[in-house]
Amino acid sequence: MLGNFIYSNPTKLYFGEDSLNYLNEELPKYGKNVQLVYGGGSIKKNGIYDKVVEILKANNKEIIEDGGIMPNPTVEKLYEGVKLAREGNADLILAVGGGSCCDYAKAVSVSVHCKEDPWEKYYMKFEDVDAGTEIIPVGCVLTMVGTGSEMNGGAVITNHDSKLKIGHIFGDRVFPKFSILNPAFTFSLPKYQMVAGFYDILNHITEQYFSGEDDSTSDYIMEGLMRSLIHSSRIAVKDPENYEARSNIMWTATWALNTLVAMGKSTDWMVHMLGQAVGAYTDATHGMTLAAVSLPYYRHIMPYGLAKFRRFAENVWDISTQGKTEEEIAGEGLDAMEAWMKELGLIMNLKKLGVTEDMMDGLVKATLIMEGGYKVLSQEDVLKILKKSM
Ligand code: NAP
Ligand code: FE
Repeated sequence: MLGNFIYSNPTKLYFGEDSLNYLNEELPKYGKNVQLVYGGGSIKKNGIYDKVVEILKANNKEIIEDGGIMPNPTVEKLYEGVKLAREGNADLILAVGGGSCCDYAKAVSVSVHCKEDPWEKYYMKFEDVDAGTEIIPVGCVLTMVGTGSEMNGGAVITNHDSKLKIGHIFGDRVFPKFSILNPAFTFSLPKYQMVAGFYDILNHITEQYFSGEDDSTSDYIMEGLMRSLIHSSRIAVKDPENYEARSNIMWTATWALNTLVAMGKSTDWMVHMLGQAVGAYTDATHGMTLAAVSLPYYRHIMPYGLAKFRRFAENVWDISTQGKTEEEIAGEGLDAMEAWMKELGLIMNLKKLGVTEDMMDGLVKATLIMEGGYKVLSQEDVLKILKKSM
């Protein structure tokens, strides 16, 4: 049975090879000052920066430059961005990049008029944006596929001093007002980033799939999304400029985490909690942190959600069932997932991401425990899973 819900998604999405032109339709809706958010320079190399600046100038916008957003954006960078937005009176924050730029733009947007320290308010106390607080609108031009940040209210920020990487899920008011998705913009991604994004997509789906036993439309949608991703990812690793595969993956990534498939059902998110703790300690690439912990996690919880793991094996990985026990079928599903992960070339070992034994106690403490999965983990469980991931 589906639980009760209200569904709306306020982000307007422009998809396809000519989608950047639609920036001309969006820009007139906002004031003159545009804070242009981007990362460490990829958009200057691949020409996207020049194209965006040309459109901004043609629309008579003042540009507030805000480059250098790092993967896993930090709280210090957030404070700098807030200062820039205040000094420049930003009317629109335009993120051009991956999830890090989109997340950072949203975090700045809710912090500019926030009277308290945004890290304390949003990330330590998990408070919502106050009703009267003005939120600067955000738009995104996506260049890296995986997070779904282009069509959701999530914003993950890392605090290296307190060794915490935390995501705040903001409501509708913080979703990007528009997002521009041109699959060809992702062709210049290095393979490491491309496949890390692919795994982030799969894991966003499994975090929502491996929860609850009810018959839910959302689970059928997710099986379709996973099958499409697995199919297209196999093409894209061999032929990265295959537009058909890259466009399907880009759309799957958005659907995986634009809140649709979570409607009416419970969700887990423990792999992200483990991965984010690892990210806070090592600053490793998000998708790789998930890849390193997820199989030990899923093998640990499989006995508590056996029916769903069996369904995953049959419906996503086409595992034959004849003459096998439920455990065998479920286990073969995870083995098939492991083989696919190896095929993509994912890093599936925490040591390779910079984790050392002396970090273990800290990692256990930095892992937030969620309660929507098949087993609520104890700290011993977390330690066991982390050790298995080494
Ligand atoms: P990212 O950190 O935005 O980008 C990763 C790297 O890819 C950067 O070095 C970037 O270089 C490069 N890059 C991006 N586009 C490129 C292109 N077209 N060509 C060449 N290089 C390109 O990666 P991400 O995985 O999208 O975002 C990760 C962050 O999102 C993490 O903090 C993660 O925790 C968070 N996250 C958020 C959500 C959510 O729902 N909001 C969900 C999952 C994860 P440049 O810096 O030089 O551009
Ligand atoms: Fe993620």
